[in-house]
Formats: sequence, C-alpha cells, structure tokens
Amino acid sequence: MSSNLHRLVYYSRNLIGGDRDDIAEHIEQILRTSRTNNTRCGVTGALLFNGGCFAQILEGSAAAVSETFERIQCDPRHGEVLVLEFVPTQSRSFPNWSMAFVGADPAGETMFGGISSQSQFDPTRLTADQIFGAMRRLLLEEEGSAAA
Ligand code: FAD
Repeated sequence: MSSNLHRLVYYSRNLIGGDRDDIAEHIEQILRTSRTNNTRCGVTGALLFNGGCFAQILEGSAAAVSETFERIQCDPRHGEVLVLEFVPTQSRSFPNWSMAFVGADPAGETMFGGISSQSQFDPTRLTADQIFGAMRRLLLEEEGSAAA
C-alpha cells in the first residue's frame, strides 16, 4: 500500500473576487468540501492561501490524488494551476489532516495577514521542496502557538 503512496504539490493564482468576507466564505467552503471528499478517498494534505496564490499538497494513493486533482484543476476559483511535483513517497507528511489550512484561521481577524506578514510567502518563486518544507514548518508553528 505504501509503495502506491504519492504526493502532489502545485500552486495556482486566486480568482476569487469580492471583499474579505466573500473570500473568507469561499475558503471555508473549499475547506469543508475538501475535508469531506478527502476523508472519503483517503487523501491528506495542506492548503495555503496568501490572498494572491494557493499552494496545496495532496497525498494518498496515485488514483485518489489524481482524481482529486482532476476536480481541483477545473475549479473556476483559481487559475494558472502549475504542478511542481507528483512523486511516490514512503510516508504521509500530513497524516492527521484531511486538509490542513496553513496561514491563519479563516474565521479570524488576521485571516490573510498571518502568512504574508510572517514570511512574504510567494509560492510561485519556490520549488516543490521549498513549498513542502515551508508548509510543514508553518503548520507546526501554528499548532505550537494554538497549544500555548
Ligand atoms: P460541490 O462542492 O458540490 O461542487 C459542485 C461543482 O460546483 C464543482 O464543479 C465545483 O468546482 C463547483 N463549485 C462549487 N462551489 C463553487 C463556487 N463557490 N464557485 C465556483 N464553483 C463552485 N476538493 C477536494 O475534494 N479536495 C481538495 O483537496 C480540494 N482542494 C481545493 C483547493 C483549491 C485551491 C480549490 C479552489 C478547490 C479545491 N477543492 C478540493 C474543490 C474542488 O475544486 C471541487 O470544487 C470539489 O472537489 C467538488 O466537490 P463536490 O463534487 O463535492 O461538488
């Protein structure tokens, strides 16, 4: 089973318009749908949103990741979707998250400020490894501060 485990990393441009509340609502809806669908097909991962771009890591069986990504890349809420890697992997890096949201609590006041002010994160300038490493680090930092 683990030999079929794959990881896909991509980034894309945000096409969601409207004000902060509209965007927050869309992000919450994307996360709700992702968590329901991904739990069903055994996909785990993380989604980063910084206002301008998305970066996402999907991990699971090659078939489940491919099917999920087929839907994602047709979604009109983003564009210029660029796959950085789709590779076999030995183990899951986000085993406990059907879809973690990296950056800030979407319902919170600091919704998009967290990630952009912390790191000037621009996924379009990074490699798959750099995106992967940064998302893991930010997620762990957020977990740490939530627990403190
Ligand atoms: P529904 O959620 O019921 O949607 C039905 C259709 O309507 C789909 O074609 C959908 O694209 C479209 N749609 C729904 N809401 C809107 C809207 N507000 N504006 C425009 N079109 C809309 N899905 C996953 O399953 N797993 C993921 O990890 C995942 N990550 C995503 C990451 C990003 C950056 C984006 C933009 C979307 C992501 N999605 C993810 C959502 C995915 O693109 C599909 O919308 C979703 O998988 C369809 O789920 P559903 O069949 O339950 O249909």
